[in-house]
Amino acid sequence: MKRPSFVILFVTAKCNAKCSFCFYADNINDHHKGIELSAEEYLLISKSAGNIPYLLISGGEPVLRNDLPEIIGYFVENASSKFVTIPSNGLSPEKTYKLFDTLTSRYPGTHFRAAFSLDYPDERHDKVRGVEGCRNSLVESAKRIAALREKKTNLSMDLVTVFIDQSEEDLKNLREFADHNVRPNNHELHVLRADGPGGASDSIDLELFLRELAVFGEKGRVEETRALSAIFRSINNTFLRAMNRLCRGTWTGPCRAGSKFTVIDEYGKVKLCEIRDDILGDLRENEYNLVQILRSKSSLKTIRDMNKDKCTCAWECAMSTNIIFNFRFYPELIYRTLRELFTRRKPQ
Ligand code: SF4
Ligand code: SF4
Repeated sequence: MKRPSFVILFVTAKCNAKCSFCFYADNINDHHKGIELSAEEYLLISKSAGNIPYLLISGGEPVLRNDLPEIIGYFVENASSKFVTIPSNGLSPEKTYKLFDTLTSRYPGTHFRAAFSLDYPDERHDKVRGVEGCRNSLVESAKRIAALREKKTNLSMDLVTVFIDQSEEDLKNLREFADHNVRPNNHELHVLRADGPGGASDSIDLELFLRELAVFGEKGRVEETRALSAIFRSINNTFLRAMNRLCRGTWTGPCRAGSKFTVIDEYGKVKLCEIRDDILGDLRENEYNLVQILRSKSSLKTIRDMNKDKCTCAWECAMSTNIIFNFRFYPELIYRTLRELFTRRKPQ
């Protein structure tokens, strides 16, 4: 219980998109100011990280890093990573295909998930992402990954939509567009977060978001080969109840940031989470030892203080992990897992 089982690994601050809502925009603009961790440094981190079954690669645009297969491979081999998610803006179809082809062939015992971002079914997607042709590139990337998925049982493809200002009609059209042009295993709706701890951004229509979250939970899923997928999906659906409570100003329970999950940025800083500014330590100054940093007195105090303050936020990764490690949610998780097992749709 004292080691993280979920690490969010930022591998670069470079990005080829310019999304209007990017929470990492400052780091992306300043990416030339620091020296990002090398593959060799990731190797050292992986060797003393303990078991990290769930790895989320982040950035920037992770696909831009040419040595990504090696970096991920170190965690698969040394930290027993079994589930690896790589989000992408879909702007690099060829590189994305090669990346997943390499990873799925090299590591058959690990399940890889490509997670593309699509916010609108039309030209508004290009506008919010700041790149002309972004939607078409994403569709091309998704087509290539869908073809690869036919051959690989250790590959899934998800689509993530950030709820910004879309209407009910927009979201219905988007789901239809996605069903025909992307064919994801899961289509998730994420909320535009507040800037810092708290709930959702003030700018969104909260009631519509909560209604649509339920619709996406029902309609945005088809069968997939990922082991434990029914459990992962039941967590997503339980998340709806937690999000309802959060959006209505109720604390959803203790946060496991710094204990069960943590964030490593591209320069080796270990952060409590993606939302707060707390830095728990610098891997470059601590022999690349993640566990040592997380167990230091100062880290434990930061984690205690954070929970004393009943910190809360609408970050999906945190909420999902907090659900897994909160027994109060278990009856619902069991019910929803069974429901998933018996009601999922076949892929089209
Ligand atoms: S693709 Fe991601 S990292 Fe890049 S600008 Fe958009 S939100 Fe930021
Ligand atoms: S609830 Fe957890 S993940 Fe969210 S801001 Fe607070 S410490 Fe970070």
